[in-house]
Amino acid sequence: MSVTPVSSSSFRFLRSEAVASLNLEVQEYEHIQTGAKHFHLAAAQEEKVFLVAFRTMPQDSSGVAHILEHTALCGSERFPVRDPFFMMTRRSLNTFMNAFTSSDWTAYPFASLNPKDFDNLLDVYLDAAFFSRLDPMDFAQEGHRVEFAEPNNPESDLVYKGVVFNEMKGAMSSPTSTLWQTFTKYLFPETTYHHNSGGEPASIPDLTYEQLREFYASHYHPSNAVFMTFGDLDVAALQEKIHQQALSNFERSDIELKVPDEKRYFAPVRVEEAYALDQEDLSKQTHHVLGWLLPRSIDVDALMKAHLLERVLLDNSSSPLLAALESSTLGTGPSPLCGLEDSNREMSFVCGLEGSEPEDAAAVEQLILDTLQKVADEGVDPRSVAAQLHQLELSQREITGDGMPFGLQLILAGMSAAIHRGDPVSVLNIDPALAKLREAVKDADFIPNLIRE
Ligand SMILES: [Zn+2]
Repeated sequence: MSVTPVSSSSFRFLRSEAVASLNLEVQEYEHIQTGAKHFHLAAAQEEKVFLVAFRTMPQDSSGVAHILEHTALCGSERFPVRDPFFMMTRRSLNTFMNAFTSSDWTAYPFASLNPKDFDNLLDVYLDAAFFSRLDPMDFAQEGHRVEFAEPNNPESDLVYKGVVFNEMKGAMSSPTSTLWQTFTKYLFPETTYHHNSGGEPASIPDLTYEQLREFYASHYHPSNAVFMTFGDLDVAALQEKIHQQALSNFERSDIELKVPDEKRYFAPVRVEEAYALDQEDLSKQTHHVLGWLLPRSIDVDALMKAHLLERVLLDNSSSPLLAALESSTLGTGPSPLCGLEDSNREMSFVCGLEGSEPEDAAAVEQLILDTLQKVADEGVDPRSVAAQLHQLELSQREITGDGMPFGLQLILAGMSAAIHRGDPVSVLNIDPALAKLREAVKDADFIPNLIRE
């Protein structure tokens, strides 16, 4: 793997960095004509992975990014059939095929062990991403439409239907999802995370077909695309195919989509909102959560510090914050939201209680602040910090699965940084950051200072 990487003439080679702990080399390229990024994770692995991702930053909760992800898969210029993806899922030898909509990106990954199959899937994926048909009927099917409640009875009520509409009705009926959406709405008052990227059932019907097309044209553009690949691949041949079949048809766009730093509040904000509940008895149905907006997730040192602090505070029943929440009689247990959120451009930390009462809000807040103050004043047992650092190290090295191909997990680990215009190599190669942490924790004030910050 010490050969100088060869790029196709349509891509410019930028750099190559070895990641010893993962036994791979990350190569970075840029498409000359459009500025599309390509990160190739070169590894001697039979299973090859491809992913194309776009920065998708909705400015409302109409679910436009999510509905687009569904509709893009419903046929393209070269594959005008109703559902080319479903056909390929059955026929191909793929080990993974899917599409994801996150809070600020949409990605289309696949993996295969067979080179010919990989090539066929690449044809379908490139065409779906860059030359999607976006048929109005597919939009109605996947997004929203109005139908009679009883299909054959024109006297019956009109109701909203649609794959995404129904999906989100299901998803948002869970109190935890509603709590998270409500919470992020206040934690992020101005950036894209303020909105529900999956779509709020009440807002989904506001989305028009023209808005969907417009979002597609501005967001699914090569200048806004990040390609990521993994495995033992002929990079130059792959890039030539991507260029010929897709990117060569586009001019560079000067729209640079990015998430800015979120606005900070001058003082703590306290809000109270309601969620739908199917029962009369409201006792023990209240959730109280506290949250903080943290530094950028693309800063690997800040990221590792935040992960360590999360572990020290919440890892197990003897961790100070979890212990306080578990033993409190103000609720039935710690909130399912407890923990660090590191996929957005700026991280957040949340903790709280579920199964509480509205009048206990101030007491829960005091409990959490007192616990943090105590840790800041008294510090933590250095042995538990060392143990948590060791656990953190193991968790970052050990790629466990979730049934996803190994290469795709590595790609997803680096993708958030690539999407946020950070450095995916620094997130994949965490050894330098770990070495700094090992040095930093020798100072007994390290954890207390992090809490104060
Ligand atoms: Zn969906």
